[in-house]
Amino acid sequence: MKNPTPAPQTDPHTKRASRDSIRTAPGVAIRSVRWAPCPICRAAAGAPCRRGPLPGDHLDRWLDAYAAGRVSLGQLAAEIGRLDVITRATIVPERTP
Ligand SMILES: [Zn+2]
Repeated sequence: MKNPTPAPQTDPHTKRASRDSIRTAPGVAIRSVRWAPCPICRAAAGAPCRRGPLPGDHLDRWLDAYAAGRVSLGQLAAEIGRLDVITRATIVPERTP
C-alpha cells in the first residue's frame, strides 16, 4: 500500500504563498477591482471612481471584486482597515507606492 504523493500545486504551503502574493501586490488588486464598471458611480472598467491627486474606488467595487474572486479576503480586509467610515459608497483611496 502506498500513500499518494501530493502534487506540488496542491501543497497547502504553495496555496498560502499564492494568496500572499495577491495581498502584497496592490497594483494587481487595483486592476482586479477596476476590471468591471463601478455599480455606484458607473466609472468605466479600468478607470478609477475618483480621479485627481488622490484617486480611489468605491468600496462597493471592492466588494464586487471579492465576490467574483478577483480580490482575496486578506486584500479586502486590508483596504477596509484603512477606512474611517465604512459604507458601500466610501471611497477607498489608492495606495501610494
Ligand atoms: Zn464608483
